[in-house]
Amino acid sequence: MIMTRKVLIDMIKLRSAMIENSINALPEAYFYPEQNINGLKSIRELATFRFTCRKCEDAPCINICPAEALEKDENGVVTRYTNLCIACKSCVTICPFGTMMSDFFEHHRNKDLLYDLNSESEMEKFINACPVGTVTITDEDESPEKNIYSLNEKVLIKEILYITEKQ
Ligand code: SF4
Ligand code: SF4
Repeated sequence: MIMTRKVLIDMIKLRSAMIENSINALPEAYFYPEQNINGLKSIRELATFRFTCRKCEDAPCINICPAEALEKDENGVVTRYTNLCIACKSCVTICPFGTMMSDFFEHHRNKDLLYDLNSESEMEKFINACPVGTVTITDEDESPEKNIYSLNEKVLIKEILYITEKQ
């Protein structure tokens, strides 16, 4: 059986490391999932919208966006259309839960800190460039009992999900 090595991003440790070390921008990694037709997207942004975002019913981030760059999909997951976004960061400011981070809008600007996770060597470089202990390589699969969820075939995300009564 062929084991697929995956990147495991611990969103909880990552947030702590950013606060403790006053890190404003992280290395970014990307992939091109079939459904991503909106250009380059950072993995952390996708993970944040899918697993960290509280999926507000009357989403203030979407309402305030002056460029109509945010919308929810059929599962309530917010998507940012990078071709429309003007990086005004109004959504960052208004999100009551601090879900969105300003560095989401920086990733096109530093090509030296942008890694392609389709390449094993780039994967290693990405891990080494991230705060220690926040990103690791694993052969494991999704494991909700450990708060580990699959973002795609290359990336696992560790995050404590916000579950509403309706869910
Ligand atoms: S940064 Fe501004 S334009 Fe971009 S998604 Fe947020 S509110 Fe919309
Ligand atoms: S306001 Fe924040 S928590 Fe609410 S839907 Fe938007 S990003 Fe998610």
